Amino acid sequence: MTVTWEESGWEQVAAGVGRCRLPVWDCTAGLVVGEGAVLLIDAGSSLAEGARLRTEAQALAGHRVTHLALTHPHFDHVLGAAALAGAEVYGAVGLDTALAHGRDELRADAVRHGLDPHVAEDAVDALIRPRHAVCGEWTLDLGGGRQVLLANVGPGHTAHDLVVLVPGDPEVVFCGDLVEESGEPQAGPDAVPSHWPAALDRLLELGGEDAAYVPGHGAVVDAAFVRAQRDALAARFGVS
Ligand SMILES: [Zn+2]
Repeated sequence: MTVTWEESGWEQVAAGVGRCRLPVWDCTAGLVVGEGAVLLIDAGSSLAEGARLRTEAQALAGHRVTHLALTHPHFDHVLGAAALAGAEVYGAVGLDTALAHGRDELRADAVRHGLDPHVAEDAVDALIRPRHAVCGEWTLDLGGGRQVLLANVGPGHTAHDLVVLVPGDPEVVFCGDLVEESGEPQAGPDAVPSHWPAALDRLLELGGEDAAYVPGHGAVVDAAFVRAQRDALAARFGVS
């Protein structure tokens, strides 16, 4: 590594695994460093933010970002993606069409949340489509014995929720917005509330009791927190 996690303002969660909390919407971006391959998880809310993540990730990893996983099609997680156009992009099956057909809504939603309209316009115009659609689970080999699991555990927060599991000590689970710590989980018009608790059951099954769970927004939590949030969502939406 050319800079340390501390120097860069990123939080190290396990060896070679970190996350950064982006300004304004407190959206998480994750980083997994392999050997000759580097995975970024989510791309920030604008082209400038995506470029910042690319630069910081490269400095941390000592290698360019080769893979990008998008956890779901919300503006604060995807609008920086075009700044990482050289990466192989992964998303839950259907994410590509959701992004292609939902451009106007994506732009409107970003502006509603306070993003500058021109910044939103530029990012939506440049938006890239994921090349790799994950249904079920997909193992990604990042070299040096580093394998991560991309798992389509949704729908829940959206119809296209992808999580990333990184074996290690601790195992790290990037949850996207299926889990939020800094506020109530956000259920917009594109949420699938009836399936959300089941998505969290699957997430807990895959991650286990000892994993560090990195929410889409907020501090790293444990399995007990995720289970409690699952039960609260089930009660909120009237599903078991
Ligand atoms: Zn979201």
